[in-house]
Amino acid sequence: MKARVLMYHDVVEAGRADESGFVSADANVYKLETAQFAAHLRAIAKLQTEPPRIASDLLRETSPHASWLLTFDDGGVSAHTRIADMLEAQGWRGHFFVTTDYINAPAFLTTQQIRDLHARGHVIGSHSCSHPLRLSHCTPSEMGREWRESLNVLSDILGERVNTASVPGGYYSRDVAVAAAESGCKVLFTSEPITRVHETQGCLIVGRYSVQRHTTPRAVAGLVNGQLAPGLRQALIWNAKKMAKRIGGEYYIKLRVALFGRGALRSGEQKTKSEE
Ligand SMILES: [Zn+2]
Repeated sequence: MKARVLMYHDVVEAGRADESGFVSADANVYKLETAQFAAHLRAIAKLQTEPPRIASDLLRETSPHASWLLTFDDGGVSAHTRIADMLEAQGWRGHFFVTTDYINAPAFLTTQQIRDLHARGHVIGSHSCSHPLRLSHCTPSEMGREWRESLNVLSDILGERVNTASVPGGYYSRDVAVAAAESGCKVLFTSEPITRVHETQGCLIVGRYSVQRHTTPRAVAGLVNGQLAPGLRQALIWNAKKMAKRIGGEYYIKLRVALFGRGALRSGEQKTKSEE
C-alpha cells in the first residue's frame, strides 16, 4: 500500500511566527503564512479530485492504489484558529498531532479546541508528551512513557481510544516504532520521505514529505500527485539533513568529551570559543 502524506506544522499571520506552536529559528522554518498555505491548498485542489484520506482509511485499505493525506505536527493553536477552517472550506479533513505536555499552554491548543477539532471530523493523534530533542536516543522505557501517556491523555480528552501518532523531530527508528506499537498506536507517521506503507508489530508506519516555509505550491501539488522529481529531490535534502543530525549529535558529544573530559557531559552548558 502507498500513501502520499504532507507534513505541515503551523499556519500564522505574516511575521507572527510566535502566534502558534514552538518558537525557535528551527521551528519557524516550518511555519507557513496564511496566504502561502491558501496557495498550497488551491494548487493541490487543482490536481486532486479526491479528498484526502484519514488514518483509519489506511487501516482498512488493501488496494495498492495510492491515497493522500494532510498532517500537522506539534499541536499549535493555529490548528483551530486557522487551519481547520481552511481545510473544511475545501471539504477536507486533516490530522493534528498534539504534544500533550503543552495542551492549554499559550500558543498551543486547549482541551476544548482539541474536542472541537475531533467533533468536526479531524483526526487527533499524539506527538509525544514532551517532544524530546532526540526520541530515537531515548531508552525504550522513556519512549514507551512518551507514547503511552500522551495517547492516554488524548483518549481521556476525547472519550475514545486515540491510536494515531507522529514522531517528533524526525527521530524515527525501529525502537521508536516498537515502543509506539506496544503503547497501542496503530498508525505512526514518520518524516521519512517515502510513500510505501509498512508494518511493525501491528502498527502501520507511514512516511511523510516535510513542508517548509519555502516549499512552493507547485512542489506540494506535485508530491501529492505522485510526480517523482520533487519527491526525489526532497528525499536527498532530507537524508542529508538526517545524516548531519545523527553525525552532528554524536560528533558534538565526542567533541565535548575531547575538550573537557567526561565531566563535560554532566556540567552542561559552559561554552568556549572553540565550540562556537
Ligand atoms: Zn514536532
